[in-house]
Amino acid sequence: MTVAASRQLRSSAELISAEEPVLAHNYHPLPVVVARAEGTWVEDVEGRRYLDMLAGYSALNFGHRHPALVEAAHRQLDRLTLTSRAFHNDRLARFAESLAALTGLDMVLPMNTGAEAVESAVKVARKWAYEVKGVAPDRATIVVAADNFHGRTTTIVSFSTDESARAGFGPFTPGFRVVPYNDLAALEAAVDETTAAVLIEPIQGEAGVVIPDDGYLRGVRELTRRTGCLFVADEIQSGLGRTGRTLAVDHEDVVPDVLLLGKALGGGIVPVSAVVARRDVLEVLRPGEHGSTFGGNPLSAAVGSAVVELLETGEFQRRAAELGVVLRGGLAALEGRGVRAFRARGLWAGVDIDPAIGTGRQISERLMREGVLVKDTHGSTIRLAPPLTITGDELRTALGALEKVLVEGA
Ligand SMILES: *Cc1c(COP(=O)(O)O)cnc(C)c1O
Repeated sequence: MTVAASRQLRSSAELISAEEPVLAHNYHPLPVVVARAEGTWVEDVEGRRYLDMLAGYSALNFGHRHPALVEAAHRQLDRLTLTSRAFHNDRLARFAESLAALTGLDMVLPMNTGAEAVESAVKVARKWAYEVKGVAPDRATIVVAADNFHGRTTTIVSFSTDESARAGFGPFTPGFRVVPYNDLAALEAAVDETTAAVLIEPIQGEAGVVIPDDGYLRGVRELTRRTGCLFVADEIQSGLGRTGRTLAVDHEDVVPDVLLLGKALGGGIVPVSAVVARRDVLEVLRPGEHGSTFGGNPLSAAVGSAVVELLETGEFQRRAAELGVVLRGGLAALEGRGVRAFRARGLWAGVDIDPAIGTGRQISERLMREGVLVKDTHGSTIRLAPPLTITGDELRTALGALEKVLVEGA
């Protein structure tokens, strides 16, 4: 048997233990080894099938290998994959035009990962503060919310309030002020003449799908406009159909100055992120001041354009809204029967499990054995974020599995 063939025959258990000595231990995955996937379903190396109720933390909003996205990627792979921004490529203008139109903003800065989009927005907001607002050099501040998640770089973890994300990684980048989420008075107290921007998630995903009160996002919009600072909305997880609208800010008819997108923007195929902003904000960047070797590459642009085309149909937003009713109803029926509380919008829910039944991790492992993949967050909370292509029957299957696990215990 060739080495390649023997490798393919390794079992899940063998592959998991093979990772241990050679792969950094910065994750603690569920013990499932996925080998293929289509739509809402993934299959492990032994051929067991699972409903994917995490969807790559919303990177797979359109399911695994959506045919239109795979076709766009294949077509582009056969023509041109990378130019760097030293040259123009024939895909980028169309992507930027369509993304700006979809979001109601003017200009796009293409990047790759979500954290890079956040980093880029921090730089743009600071430069805007110095050049447009007139903040004294190196004095700009950015106000953020407690329990935020914006990524993993040193600057971003500088304003995290999660000790495990920070401990051992200092010294940290100064210039950030942390206020409680969903508290307009605290936000107002933190904003002053040095404030470049308020950076928040319209719904806090990693925190457990924490949805602010109605009016909070409108309040942030009004406050930032009145005090002359930028509203930066990190919709890397909440955006692109997940909540039943194109953007989570659409629920309050709010347009931020700067919008951060990632995850689903790459269709689950390539990493694609973007800072989308008003022209007078993004215009502060001039040649040589910011960049990325891979940002805006033609493969990313082709896939990103195909993602925007899917969203232009409105079908995915509609599905998320309609099936969100099923999700909410199913979770409501479990309240007091193992579910202590839940928060849901569209096809996105944070579910607090009664700790007497088990930790979020234990519940996730039990659900895995029932053929449903989810991810825990913060102790006893599990997060549900299926592909927006999920059917009503598949969703009911997942809810049925959750009910079974809660009744039987972890
Ligand atoms: C995932 C996420 C990020 C970081 O994205 P990466 O691609 O993992 O760097 C930033 N903000 C939010 C809200 C996210 O959910």
